[in-house]
Amino acid sequence: MPTGDAAPTDELALGDDLRAFVDASPSPSHAGAELARRLTAAGFTELAEVDRWELAPGAEHFVVRRGGSVVAFRVGSAAPAEAGLRLVGAHTDSPTFKVRPNNDVRQAGYRLVGVEPYGGGLWHTWLDRELTVAGRLALRGGGTALVRLPGAPLRLPSLAIHLDRSVREGLTLDPQRHLVPVWDGGLGTAPGLAEALADAAGVPAGDVLGHDLVLADTQPAARAGADGTWVAAPRLDDLACCHAGLTALLTAPPTTRTQLLVCNDHEEVGSGSMEGARGSFLADVVARLVAATGDGDAQAVHRAVARSVLVSADMAHAVHPTRSDRHEPEHAPRLGGGPVLKVNANQAYATDAAGGGWFAERCAEAGVPVQRFVSRADLPCGSTIGPLTATRLGIPTVDVGGPMLAMHSCRELASALDVPLMVGALTACFLD
Ligand SMILES: [Zn+2]
Repeated sequence: MPTGDAAPTDELALGDDLRAFVDASPSPSHAGAELARRLTAAGFTELAEVDRWELAPGAEHFVVRRGGSVVAFRVGSAAPAEAGLRLVGAHTDSPTFKVRPNNDVRQAGYRLVGVEPYGGGLWHTWLDRELTVAGRLALRGGGTALVRLPGAPLRLPSLAIHLDRSVREGLTLDPQRHLVPVWDGGLGTAPGLAEALADAAGVPAGDVLGHDLVLADTQPAARAGADGTWVAAPRLDDLACCHAGLTALLTAPPTTRTQLLVCNDHEEVGSGSMEGARGSFLADVVARLVAATGDGDAQAVHRAVARSVLVSADMAHAVHPTRSDRHEPEHAPRLGGGPVLKVNANQAYATDAAGGGWFAERCAEAGVPVQRFVSRADLPCGSTIGPLTATRLGIPTVDVGGPMLAMHSCRELASALDVPLMVGALTACFLD
């Protein structure tokens, strides 16, 4: 693998840190735990939703809902109703497969694990890779445990071309019949998934009462490309923006305004959950933040929201080297070219003139270039948590993202050169 050192190492250091963040986050629950670990190391303390919150100016806290969603904030020196908030949003989940409740499948002499597709993945990219299982277990007595099985116990083998030559006309994968990972090597001597999970959690098998488990590629994120500037990794959409938002929040000095990062689970499946962007998590935290720092004014939360801006940070499509026809010719972002401002006439992105102008001005202050993306008129547009959050909270929102290739592949591609640019842009947004 080429790992050229042409780019200065300080330009790549944040890309290396992104790789460590991705490797620590094989599931949304792990991403939540890694966010919490980094926040705690930086002096933020956790608040429980069941407790009464007392918040002083300058206080730094975070809240976790259902493991995979995190809100972190630094209270400004002025009340939110007077100064507003600066928010950055991203999502912790990525397309994958979720392990079914009854998952012990026996077929053709093999032991397999029953799974269900999660989100819109490029499923063929999951074939022939060394896979494991990661996520959260519910334990007897009400506790939970994070688990990641060691090694690479699972695999989705391709069918040999000799057994189906029609694959030359295009590969068709039926998720029910073809995307069932194999668990053991054929000897049938290994313990099953349930035993392995209990073993990893250090509890008797009968104490595991439920699970939220996903498949994860075990190959560590890597530097790649002839100049060593690429980041080849799983789950860059949208762990790269979770990482950039967190790094910006930890980098930004306090101001009069309250600075807040929200990382939601369930974006890839429509955000409709208590911890997703359609749920109440962010609205609840903002309302409590305003209540705990205000003077009891019943209009305070509405005044705070009206003075705020949310930057919805979700990865963006860089122009493809051999499929550039899939981009609108005047809007073809490049890897390494800086943050991408996303616009859609039909509100798939929340960016409007005021929001886009505000973000461009922050980038100019930070010396960061801005690229722009709109879909071709003959292609449907993806969406993000931006319009959902704007709709739910009534908060001015701008949709941005880092340029990348192979979005929703098992192994995506971004540029380490974009990491400091996105961190710089988001830091400038927190400082406004
Ligand atoms: Zn995304």
